[in-house]
Amino acid sequence: MRAVYIDRYGPPDVLKFGEVEDPKLPSDDHVLVRVKASSVNNLDIITRRGAYKFLIKRFPHILGADLAGVIEKVGRNVKDLAEGERVIGYPILYDGKCYWCKNGYENLCDNLGVVGRDLSGSYAEYVVVPAKNVYPMPKNLDYYQASTIQLALITAWHALTKRVSIKEGDTVFIWGGSGGVGTFAIQIAKLFGATVITATSNDDKARKLKEMGADYVINYKEDDVEKKVLEYTNGLGADIVLDTIGPLTINKSIRIAKKRGKVIVLGFWGTDDDTVSFTLRSIYLKHVSIVGSAMGTRNDMVEALREVIRGGIKPIIDSVIKLEEARRAHERFESNEKFGKIVLSVD
Ligand SMILES: [Zn+2]
Repeated sequence: MRAVYIDRYGPPDVLKFGEVEDPKLPSDDHVLVRVKASSVNNLDIITRRGAYKFLIKRFPHILGADLAGVIEKVGRNVKDLAEGERVIGYPILYDGKCYWCKNGYENLCDNLGVVGRDLSGSYAEYVVVPAKNVYPMPKNLDYYQASTIQLALITAWHALTKRVSIKEGDTVFIWGGSGGVGTFAIQIAKLFGATVITATSNDDKARKLKEMGADYVINYKEDDVEKKVLEYTNGLGADIVLDTIGPLTINKSIRIAKKRGKVIVLGFWGTDDDTVSFTLRSIYLKHVSIVGSAMGTRNDMVEALREVIRGGIKPIIDSVIKLEEARRAHERFESNEKFGKIVLSVD
């Protein structure tokens, strides 16, 4: 089959397109999916750059966590899925047996993995995943849209609804509002009746963010984010700060959080080193909580998909790029130009 793979770590030009071995069903509990579309996540970028060197078992390695496609073959034990069925993926690999899985936290599984990181991914014509890692594709979506409502969506959903229990009346500040997680986070926050403040780099994106429902949009190149957030919150700061950037923003996040506020740390961006430095006083004097969150559970997937089917959350697609041009897709992802999700189409 044809696929996009890496055989070393580095910039987008390490992505190669070519023939690789066809995947086979490794057990009777797996399914083979013909991929119609995948979408690019931060995970793919940092994996390509080498952040998970210690987890990649062998080269060539195929990236890609999200998938939308058609079941091509099912293992003998798979009863509830049939060949020809349209599916999307739940990208988290979990054992279903550990303490965390038994308590509904697949995203904390002791044997956690992610499709495209710990297993060959979806930047390919075919992908093999455990049958429990696919869901029926929502009928109101096409393959491109369906490929976007996975890793980024459950990440935003888990962070806001489970880690900080967002509620009506909260004010949420979202860094990187035009990113994959950001565009979903804005919609989720609005669904729950929160006021949304976000920051972006230009007026065109600012206009789109307002159209999506953001109440206030700060152009961080022209305005002081801290000053503006305080201005929009009567000097109080935000109840929740969603920080997907990390080392470059964490101190600002702490400063713009309200007293007793919560800063959710979701990952890092713009640097390969995720070391941060802040003073303890900046935390305890304000009673601020720093909350970690990563990806989402199966239940998050079900809850978030319900909202997508209902129309409460919409996939925001930046662009559709052919799989063979994955390099260009990664360059665009890293350029700060995009708005929403970049889809890779597989013909
Ligand atoms: Zn587990």
